[in-house]
Amino acid sequence: TRTYIVTGSASGIGATTAEMLRARGEKVIGIDLRNADIEADLSTPSGRQTAAARAIELAEGRIDAVIACAGISAPIPATISVNYFGVTELLTALLPALSKSDAPRAAVVSSMASLQPNSPEMVEAALAGDEEKAVAIAAELAAQGPEIGYLVYPSSKRALSRWVRRASITPEWAGAGIPLNAVAPGTVVTPMTAQLLATPEGTAMVDAAVPMPLNYHQPPESIASLLLWLTSVENTHLAGQVIYDDGGADATLRGDDI
Ligand code: NAD
Repeated sequence: TRTYIVTGSASGIGATTAEMLRARGEKVIGIDLRNADIEADLSTPSGRQTAAARAIELAEGRIDAVIACAGISAPIPATISVNYFGVTELLTALLPALSKSDAPRAAVVSSMASLQPNSPEMVEAALAGDEEKAVAIAAELAAQGPEIGYLVYPSSKRALSRWVRRASITPEWAGAGIPLNAVAPGTVVTPMTAQLLATPEGTAMVDAAVPMPLNYHQPPESIASLLLWLTSVENTHLAGQVIYDDGGADATLRGDDI
């Protein structure tokens, strides 16, 4: 049995991932705001530290894999805190317990939205570890209404994808034998997208931004099964990748430009 920490375990992709792992007989410790083994707010530094300490305690010191799914898409400053710092700080705090595993692994959920227009200043502030500055930039954008405020989401995911590429090859991750990767979904049918997909107008807007020629909107299982492989013992050499599991959205939008 391997011990997995799954964030966002109460809903959507995280809930499906936790279910699939449990069905395979793995031990899962879920983290979420509510309805989880560990109820913590990953939007704050203290919430992240409490969650990490409790996870290490419940795992009895040894964690085999971390799968970070918790995230929000709202045009609000908290989106950069949860989606970037809530992932990177938690993963970093769990490194000592991962190093106790024979086959440690980590995977995070980014988004194809990381390719959309974003705020380079916010991305740089996040990568510099400056949460205060990143949140201040997000607050300025959010104050200009939901359309401009939406930039916070792609910025948070852009920063997260870049962090994965940078961190994955450092002594702490690759050097410690820990594959670290990201999955970038297209449009997944979960509570996050339910409201948008409930109307033809919302659906048309989403589909214009995220074209999915292969099998259209995806179930959370399509992401969960990839997260399971990335964090399995079988993954020995895949590191630092942002894998677009998105029905062909990235290939459609970027074409040859990779
Ligand atoms: P979801 O809303 O169903 O689940 C997200 C979970 O994260 C919820 O249970 C929520 O409570 C938790 N969460 C939010 N803020 C938190 C906080 N401060 N502390 C702890 N937990 C918190 O959404 P989902 O669709 O399953 O999304 C999972 C991940 O996939 C997110 O990172 C999202 O950005 C990403 N993603 C989703 C889609 C999509 O179309 N649904 C597309 C691309 C990427």
